[in-house]
Amino acid sequence: MRVYISVDMEGIAGVSHPKPTDRTDTEYAAAADLMTGEANAAIEGARAAGATEILVNDSHGGMYNLRPMGLDPSARLLQGQKAWSMIAGAEPVADRPAFDLALFVGYHARAGHPTGTIAHTYTGGPTETRLNGRPTGEYGFNALALGAWGIPVGLVAGDDALAAEVESWLPWAERVTVKTGHGTHAAASLHPERARDLVRAGSAIAVERARAGELRLLEVARPVVIEVDYRRALEADYAAIPPPAERIGDRTVRHAADDPLAAYRGFLAGVRLASLVE
Ligand SMILES: [Zn+2]
Repeated sequence: MRVYISVDMEGIAGVSHPKPTDRTDTEYAAAADLMTGEANAAIEGARAAGATEILVNDSHGGMYNLRPMGLDPSARLLQGQKAWSMIAGAEPVADRPAFDLALFVGYHARAGHPTGTIAHTYTGGPTETRLNGRPTGEYGFNALALGAWGIPVGLVAGDDALAAEVESWLPWAERVTVKTGHGTHAAASLHPERARDLVRAGSAIAVERARAGELRLLEVARPVVIEVDYRRALEADYAAIPPPAERIGDRTVRHAADDPLAAYRGFLAGVRLASLVE
């Protein structure tokens, strides 16, 4: 059983404000330790349920947050600047799925969610992101691309707002709630040890469900339509450059394609180009 774990920071228990997620903040080291601890819980649960190969993808900010020496030795760690961002390392090998399931740890609600802790989608640029007309966030777009690569998502851990969103998009995935959002810059969190217990248990359940064939790939109707509302028109100008982008509003860009990966690639490139706007 090969398990892929994408670990973000904003949805980790004990992280409730965006400042400690920035590596220049004095509390960043503590946040990185919390992130490493929750990643380890996911690894331990997967291992206990029979995972034989585990790749952890550091999926926050500059993507070199997790502490290599602190990580469970049974996993490999992918860090650094990666073209495929939060799903890097999960690309198919010889046209076959590289992993049997994916786990999302430390994830958060979509951009624009009113109460989700540090809710955003990839960067601060998007104010709302939609897939086939329904708001979704990183968990949805990442699950879409992983689904195209043949990998189902078996667990999503983060706050209560995320769990509610995931229930409609990925109903087969185990949902672990480690904190309750109190507006985007505050959360009531479980103690990290308690959160890790839940993530460890959820991870084991996810692996067992994968083995039982109970997980599904996220598939949506064609054409796949990703729409992004940006804060500023200039950001949308930049995001609309790579095909198959289409500018459909003052601050809105649409990336539509029959191939979900083509839509995702256009979206990812657009978000990155928009972040170049000063
Ligand atoms: Zn994120």
